[in-house]
Amino acid sequence: MLEDKNQERTSLEKLGEFGLIEHLTKNFEIKHKSTIKGIGDDAAVFDHTDKTILTTDLLIEGVHFDLSYMPLKHLGYKAVMVNLSDVYAMNATAKQITVSLAVSNRFPLEALEELYAGIALAAKIFNVDLIGGDTTSSTSGMLISITAIGEAKEEEITYRSGAKANDLLVVSGDLGAAYMGLQVLDREKEVFKVNPNNQPDLSPYSYIVERQLKPEARKDIVELLKKLEVLPSAMIDISDGLSSEILHLCKSSKVGCNLFEEKIPLDPTVISACEEFNIDSTTIALSGGEDYELLFTIAQNDFDKIKGNPSLTVIGHMTDESEGAHLVTRGNTKIELTAQGWNSFKSND
Ligand SMILES: [Mg+2]
Repeated sequence: MLEDKNQERTSLEKLGEFGLIEHLTKNFEIKHKSTIKGIGDDAAVFDHTDKTILTTDLLIEGVHFDLSYMPLKHLGYKAVMVNLSDVYAMNATAKQITVSLAVSNRFPLEALEELYAGIALAAKIFNVDLIGGDTTSSTSGMLISITAIGEAKEEEITYRSGAKANDLLVVSGDLGAAYMGLQVLDREKEVFKVNPNNQPDLSPYSYIVERQLKPEARKDIVELLKKLEVLPSAMIDISDGLSSEILHLCKSSKVGCNLFEEKIPLDPTVISACEEFNIDSTTIALSGGEDYELLFTIAQNDFDKIKGNPSLTVIGHMTDESEGAHLVTRGNTKIELTAQGWNSFKSND
């Protein structure tokens, strides 16, 4: 429904594989001293003074993204964000990325230029070098695999395993918006199928739709914590929903948790969209996914340093493992937390 009306179509065969990579990556500049050799040799070379962090992610058309409402530029941007978010979740600085792509012949060169424009924008804003990758053909659809490489001082790396009982549980930003944005886009797609002349008015939903189509990895939070001199005891990024990420922290750290429903940060547009769709907003925050916020634990002594910061919300505290992980509702009832996070293996029913 948001299809690019650009009529120019240059078939990929015209360029060949090497010509294609060269064409798509020619405007990328190397920014980091640690990147010794980027694209243009058999392999890239980089040199980090501190510890090297590496993460990789595979995105498949029809499973992780739907091109009927995902503009290719946004997809390129989001594919980078998903990976950088994991680097930031280690309390590291992202430095390099590689991008590998498989596309069917339904995609012209102009489509890949759009995708790479999104990747280039992300690389520029988040200050990472594109240092390699591969492009090949697929029999159907598009696959994107991105690897992100980061750097951190050994003593600053935050694992999932460092949380202690009585630590505070903190989240950045607000939750549930990306999921509700997806609900709006799915609904409009169905309307469009019935009446292709009906162009949707998404303006009342701009925040939640943007959170779905153009998430921002929280580099700023990693920098903020450094500035505030707060070293989280454990950290994870929220890709699959708050409850499953809390359970990951609990399991790795061998602790329990009390999460307070009334503390969960929700944007007003998420609350109104939840009312419109008749869905419980807490359920969405717990299970929605794709928020790419950071969830971390801090010692109680650090509370004063983060108190009142508009980007950070204390939503609970860790407990002894024997107490388990619970949601404390507004009505003061304790409900066991279960991982009902978004799951790409779940059946489509
Ligand atoms: Mg993660």
